[in-house]
Amino acid sequence: MSDSTTSTDAALRTPIVAVLGHVDHGKTSVLDKVRGSAVIEGEAGAITQHIGATAVPLDVISEIAGELVDPTDFDLPGLLFIDTPGHHSFATLRSRGGALADIAILVVDVNDGFQPQTEEAIEILKRSETPFIVAANKIDTVPGWNPTEDAPVQATYESQSDRVRGDLDEKLYEIIGQLSDRGFSADLYWRVQNFQNNVGVVPVSAMTGEGIPDLLTVMMGLSQRYMKEAMEIDVAGPGVGTVLEVKEEKGFGTTLDVVLYDGTVREDDTIVVGGADSTIVTDVRALLKPRPLSEIRTESRFENVDELKAAAGIKIAAPELDDAMSGAPMRVVRDREIDDVIGEVEAELADIAVDTVEQG
Ligand code: GDP
Repeated sequence: MSDSTTSTDAALRTPIVAVLGHVDHGKTSVLDKVRGSAVIEGEAGAITQHIGATAVPLDVISEIAGELVDPTDFDLPGLLFIDTPGHHSFATLRSRGGALADIAILVVDVNDGFQPQTEEAIEILKRSETPFIVAANKIDTVPGWNPTEDAPVQATYESQSDRVRGDLDEKLYEIIGQLSDRGFSADLYWRVQNFQNNVGVVPVSAMTGEGIPDLLTVMMGLSQRYMKEAMEIDVAGPGVGTVLEVKEEKGFGTTLDVVLYDGTVREDDTIVVGGADSTIVTDVRALLKPRPLSEIRTESRFENVDELKAAAGIKIAAPELDDAMSGAPMRVVRDREIDDVIGEVEAELADIAVDTVEQG
């Protein structure tokens, strides 16, 4: 496949997912539950831990989702979850003027409903035109709830007493009303026909795993239906990504944690990165991914790879990265003029600066 650097290699990449919501509403728990279920179901360790992100492939999603998902309905490869939840990271992580995340999960505690950071998250999602679904979390806290671990939510909902179901309905309709007050027509996800015009609300419990199969199914369906075209990339092309973090790493000096959303980055590439004072042009020294847990007793936490295709999270070691900024663009030069690529990176940086001022 990589026999020629000039060939185009069209493929569908994994949609990038962010998790947003008010503090303590369960963002971290939802992410952990998704990762946990994926580890259990994918016996061959089919989820892959990336730098700053976790990839859940389609076959794992379809095992978790059971009868909810027919894998032949999908040709997107799965979902890539950004590991750092919260709208601060979401708002600063951009790609080509839009949000880095292609799709988002807004976590709302069913007991608390909309809170200040929920409002902020909604505003950011609206402004960046990012499609999202709502995970109405902590359904297990409804008094009298009778849990069925990891079950699809419709089944577990039906198996509650009338009173419990009535209590939950009241909380869910509160959230649906709050969404509609902010201009989003919303409903329980199984009643939504068109996710482009309506926000689907998925009742979940990050504690019991109820509704997690549905959450993954709806995310997959939404991506497949409305984002397939946007996911078509030239995987053999020069890589494009966004810097998550700039980190000092023992033995490697300053490194960049990058989410790659287009093309490929290779060990011998020259890259251009946005810096605090000026644009940085440097050569990749090493591409690093987390070493599997089973091998972690050996030397480094990382292992080297020759190349990486979007969408993925990767650590890049290279000289002269001290001035690099999180949130900045990273572009591979490959067989193009360096000045053109510098121009692209500078234009994107200017765009981010304008937006920061507007938000400020
Ligand atoms: P974050 O601040 O949004 O990342 O929230 P966390 O994931 O840290 O969760 C905040 C608290 O709520 C923690 O004590 C969790 O254990 C608890 N929590 C999260 N999800 C659930 C849930 O579905 N049910 C219950 N009962 N507790 C939950």
